[in-house]
Amino acid sequence: MRVLVVGGAGYIGSHATRALRRHGYEVIIYDNLSTGYKFLADGFELITGDIADPAKLAEVMKRADAVMHFAAHAYVGESVENPRKYFQNNVEAALTLLNTALDTGVRKFVFSSSCAVYGVPLTVPIPESNPRQPVNPYGASKLFVENALEAYDRAYGMRFASLRYFNAAGADESGEIGELHEPETHLIPLALAAAAGKGAKLQVFGTDYPTPDGTCVRDYIHVNDLAEAHVLALEQVTKENEPLALNLGTGQGYSVMEVINTVERITGRAVPRSIAPRRAGDPPALVADSKRAQQVLGWRPRRSLQEIVSTAWKWMQRRA
Ligand code: UDP
Repeated sequence: MRVLVVGGAGYIGSHATRALRRHGYEVIIYDNLSTGYKFLADGFELITGDIADPAKLAEVMKRADAVMHFAAHAYVGESVENPRKYFQNNVEAALTLLNTALDTGVRKFVFSSSCAVYGVPLTVPIPESNPRQPVNPYGASKLFVENALEAYDRAYGMRFASLRYFNAAGADESGEIGELHEPETHLIPLALAAAAGKGAKLQVFGTDYPTPDGTCVRDYIHVNDLAEAHVLALEQVTKENEPLALNLGTGQGYSVMEVINTVERITGRAVPRSIAPRRAGDPPALVADSKRAQQVLGWRPRRSLQEIVSTAWKWMQRRA
């Protein structure tokens, strides 16, 4: 089976391409390289194009049996300031991609969704049945595509899996690919950069949350655990089971302070830091109930927070 990996030159997409190849799939990467990097696609066929370009998409879609869609903007704060950019790409262009798949007869679609679809969760850990009430345009854009997929499944038989990621982190064990955001806003790479003396001091956004140590709790999931879940989800989509919407997290939350302590342990260096005000829109705790993904996919997140931090550290040192 040949899979069109849209956004395959990005962080999570590049790990998914390698997981697909390890499982014997053929891969074509389609990426506009706006936030992706050519070298993350090394060794794969790369077509440089935008998902807003239906003619270019249609040409490559003819050669594909399934689509994995990673090509989205993913900064919550930016989505609040510039919602137009988010709705234009993550909704309008995503629909162009979906319609092109439909028109070309491709009926298997694996979608990068997000725990941002839940907004401020009713319960933590969060099961898939929690109401989906996003509180920012990024989450709203992901929910729109989930809804479109559900409707396309009922009306046109589009088989899909919406995979709701919690906090993707870490890097491939090889040290060859990893996280590379410009600007970087995520906790683990910023803490590592601060430890390496390369970045600014780490700002700890809020120490007065209703959590055990007052800092926010998140569910960090290794990018290769995510990548493997995508391959398993594609297998399910191919079997024509029920449409899937699954949380991908470990079920274990760590506070910002616990992450900083882990970074200090792994690097053997201090993380220079300062206490900063809460960041707008950050809920106190987001942790997945991922039992459903484990049951349906037969998947287990295998890598610990230590492995997340040590692979991210290896990747950062390789690029230094
Ligand atoms: N965070 C922080 N300082 C930073 C970046 C993040 O204290 O420089 C906190 C943030 O408030 C959140 C957690 O770390 O509670 C994870 O944030 P990140 O941006 O990595 O992922 P998000 O949860 O926003 O997807």
